[in-house]
Amino acid sequence: MPEAFQYTDERFADIQMLRYRVTGFEELSPRQRILVYYLSEAALTGRDILWDQNGRYNLRIRQLLETVYLNYKGDRTSDDFRAFTVYLKRVWFSNGIHHHYSTDKLQPRFSPTFLRKALEDCAGATGLDALCEELFPVIFDPEVMPKRVNQAEGDDLLLTSASNYYGHDVSQAEAEAYYEALKAKAQDPARPVMYGMNSRLVKEDEGLRERTWQSGGLYGAAIDKIISWLEKAESVAENPLQAAVIAKLIEFYRTGSLVAFDEYTILWVGETEGDVDFTNGFTEVYGDPLGLKASWEGFANFKDKTATARTEALAANAQWFEDNSPVDPRFKKTSTRGVTAKVIVAAMLGGDLYPSSAIGINLPNSNWVRAEHGSKSVTIGNLTDAYNKAAHGNGFLEEFVIDEPTLALINKYGDACDDLHTDLHECLGHGSGRLLEGVDPDALKAYGSTIEEARADLFALYYIADPKLVALGLVPDAEAFKSQYYTYMMNGLMTQLVRIEPGACIEEAHMRNRALIARWLLKASASGSKPAMAMTQLDGKTYVKINDYDALRNLIGQLLAEVQRIKSEGDYHAAACLVETYGIKTDPQLHAEILQRYSALNLAPYKGFINPILTPEYNDQGCITDVSISYGEAFDHQMLRYSRDYATLPLTND
Ligand code: ZN
Repeated sequence: MPEAFQYTDERFADIQMLRYRVTGFEELSPRQRILVYYLSEAALTGRDILWDQNGRYNLRIRQLLETVYLNYKGDRTSDDFRAFTVYLKRVWFSNGIHHHYSTDKLQPRFSPTFLRKALEDCAGATGLDALCEELFPVIFDPEVMPKRVNQAEGDDLLLTSASNYYGHDVSQAEAEAYYEALKAKAQDPARPVMYGMNSRLVKEDEGLRERTWQSGGLYGAAIDKIISWLEKAESVAENPLQAAVIAKLIEFYRTGSLVAFDEYTILWVGETEGDVDFTNGFTEVYGDPLGLKASWEGFANFKDKTATARTEALAANAQWFEDNSPVDPRFKKTSTRGVTAKVIVAAMLGGDLYPSSAIGINLPNSNWVRAEHGSKSVTIGNLTDAYNKAAHGNGFLEEFVIDEPTLALINKYGDACDDLHTDLHECLGHGSGRLLEGVDPDALKAYGSTIEEARADLFALYYIADPKLVALGLVPDAEAFKSQYYTYMMNGLMTQLVRIEPGACIEEAHMRNRALIARWLLKASASGSKPAMAMTQLDGKTYVKINDYDALRNLIGQLLAEVQRIKSEGDYHAAACLVETYGIKTDPQLHAEILQRYSALNLAPYKGFINPILTPEYNDQGCITDVSISYGEAFDHQMLRYSRDYATLPLTND
């Protein structure tokens, strides 16, 4: 038996570190594993670019802190050194000195005196005065560079943001005027390039000039190394189109041409034959207050074969599900095709996807490329899985689930049923049913998206309890669905409220839909002699109690039929009534109780991942023959290794 995989790693400040397992890596061919390895190296090699984008002092501060961390000879158990370690880990996690999410500057809980003394002990006193004078205010003074991305209305967003996308003396008005003028000169206004995406805008001789991030330009040293890994990847690509995608990306990195970048994204969107895929480059614009300049990220991944097999089984039976649903035959499709899921497995996270990562990718960002060439929208299955696995045993379910037998059911079946629910929702639910002739698809207006999500969820809930899924081998037995019913109702009636501020309403469509379904079912349950589901009090705490799972499924079928009718007929008033009655308002007393119980669990609000280690294997001639994967590296070891092996830039890039 292999040792159990440890999904949860250390916790510090507001961060919980997790690990993800690269499921299916062993099933790839050796050549595919080598491709993943080259793309992974390319994904890690741009690390310094992001650090410098996040702030002009970040690389120097990182080196200073790591010098102390590696060489400190004093008491490593002292309060000062512990506080120093937490600060360094937070800086590592944030890829700079500002919080990765709030973008507020991280405040050290140790003194400048401690750091100065430590530096003197580790690196000697030469030049220390000047260094401290320059960097200590940046580290310690809350007034200096307080925010990485300032969005406060009325401020000059560039002069007050610490991110390094514009020269420190470039004002918001100057930058806006500069890019307005560029856009006005666009050759094809319907197909604009992503102006400003890959450069820093600086003042030079009183004029503004872009310093482009490209080979031979700003960040050129890092980009050249990325190119060399991409060239290796190109040589082992799975098919000619994939090789062409990589070649085009290399051309973009060499030339800095935004036209080449658009050509690259068009090729990238079109390449769907290979198992292995990647993102690499200047991608997301959240770090620029003006939303133009893109942070560097890298990501190597491959198709999730297990998830794909699952959804292929559902898609192959799509018409059976349509025919057997409890919906009025007038609202059913006579021919329906399921969609297969686009689930991928993360193999390496880099740049702005590391350590904190998205669990889905939806690219490219160019509107006209999306409209004319489509987009890739995928979920990262093994990251979701790691989040789920880490949630077991963190006390959350123990707090909110009513009793031991129900908890055991959830621990046994919960993760598998969550995945299956998502598959049923995405692959069959949204595609099922039809509008009556002449009905406006937008007839439900503002209630449309909540009703649509409810329709897909109800379809999934109805069928997850169907013997057909046992027959298809998608659930282990006829009990499994109960775990999904319980957690869905618990979430819709209670625990999703932890994401709502006290006194606020439910706004987001998916959350409204879950509240709508769960509360409608609660109300409908109460009309029978013995309720199928009820809210109950035990020791002063509220719980969901499900008495009759089969009766609950019948009610789900009734609501599915009604929601499909509303959609098919475009019955705006019925939609409004359902959503307003069940989907929006919160019960202040219950809400307060849930928030209080949740905060008592003291769970870390932010999570991030430690990467696996990919190790190449070589033959006697020194040629790479295969790649092996291992886990278990500590967060600090990984960070120090990356700082050593992927140090691609000078410490200042002005
Ligand atoms: Zn949906």
